[in-house]
Amino acid sequence: MDRNLLQSTLAESGEPAYRADQVWRWVAGGAAGYEEMTNLPAALRERLAVEVPFSTLTVAAEAKADDGTVKTLFNTADGRPLEAVLMRYRDGRRSVCVSSQSGCPLTCTFCATGQMQFGRNLSADEILDQALHFRRVEAIDHVVFMGMGEPTMNVDNVLAACARLPDVGVSNRRTAISTVGWVPGIDRLAECELPVALALSLHAPNDGLRSQLMPVNDRYPLAEVLAACRRYIERRRRKVFVEYVMLDGVNDHPEHARELARLLDPRAYKVNLIPYNPTGAYDGSPPEAIERFRAILAEQRITATVRLTRGREIAAACGQLAASAA
Ligand code: SAH
Repeated sequence: MDRNLLQSTLAESGEPAYRADQVWRWVAGGAAGYEEMTNLPAALRERLAVEVPFSTLTVAAEAKADDGTVKTLFNTADGRPLEAVLMRYRDGRRSVCVSSQSGCPLTCTFCATGQMQFGRNLSADEILDQALHFRRVEAIDHVVFMGMGEPTMNVDNVLAACARLPDVGVSNRRTAISTVGWVPGIDRLAECELPVALALSLHAPNDGLRSQLMPVNDRYPLAEVLAACRRYIERRRRKVFVEYVMLDGVNDHPEHARELARLLDPRAYKVNLIPYNPTGAYDGSPPEAIERFRAILAEQRITATVRLTRGREIAAACGQLAASAA
C-alpha cells in the first residue's frame, strides 16, 4: 500500500493521525481489504477503497509447484515487472523471497534477471506489498532479498521495508539480504541499526573466474568484498552466509573447493551450495559433484549445506518467470 497516499487521503478527509496506524495494523495482519477494518467508520472505508489501492502491485501471473512453492509475477503501477516466491518447508517455515529492483543493473552470466533490462529501484511499499501478498494467504516468518535486483544498490528502501517487516510477523533476525558484494552496501548493513542477516553471492574462489561469472567483480574484487564482510562480522558479531551456485565443470572442481576453504574463516562463514536452476547459459553440477565439494569444505571445518531446491518446475529462480512472460 502506498503509505504516503494513505496519509494524504486521511489528512484530506480530516481524520485523526492514528488512523494510518490503524490501517497499517490491519494490512500487516493480513487483511484482504478495507471492508475488514471494522474499527474504521464505514464511510472512510468506502473512500479509501476508491482512492487508495490496497496494493501498489497487481498480479500478472502466478504458478504453484507440487512442493507448495508459489511464484508470483507482479506489475508496478507504472508497468514494471517483478517477482516474489513463497517457499513452504516441511518444518512449517514460510519464507518469502522478495525483489528489490525491477530487473537488475548487474549482469551475472548465470542469472536470468541479469539478462533482462534494468527497470528501476522498488519503493519500500512495493517491497512490503510482495510479502503482504503472501501474508494474506498465510502467516510468514522469514524474508530473503534473493529475488530480482541487487538490494544493496537500493539500500534505503530495502531497510525501510525491513523496519516494517516485524509488523508482518518477520523479525529482522529472520530477514536476510543477499548481495553480489557491493562494498558500500555491505558497509551500510554493518552500520545500520537493524539486525538483518547478510548473505554474500560468492560463486567463485578467485578473481579470474569470479569476474568471468560476475562482471561486478572487476569493480569490487574478492579481497575488497571479503574485507567488507570482515567489518560486518566484527561489528555485528554474526556469521555471513556464502552462496555458491554449482555450475558443472566451471566452479565445481575439488581445487575450487580447496581454494574457497582457504578464503573463508570457518568461524565466520557458512556456505550454502546452490543447485543451479538452468537458464540456458550453463549446466548444473551433478549431485555427486555437489556432495564432493561439500565434503572437501567440511574437511576444512567449513560448514556447508546444499540448498533445498524449491519450485524447480515453475522456474522459480531469480528472474525466470519475468523472462518467460516477456
Ligand atoms: N543480487 C543479489 C540478490 C539476488 S539473487 C545477489 O546476487 O546476491 C539471489 C541468489 O540467487 C544469488 O546468490 C544468485 O547468484 C542466485 N541465482 C541467480 N540465478 C540463479 C540460478 N539460475 N540458479 C541458482 N541460483 C541463482
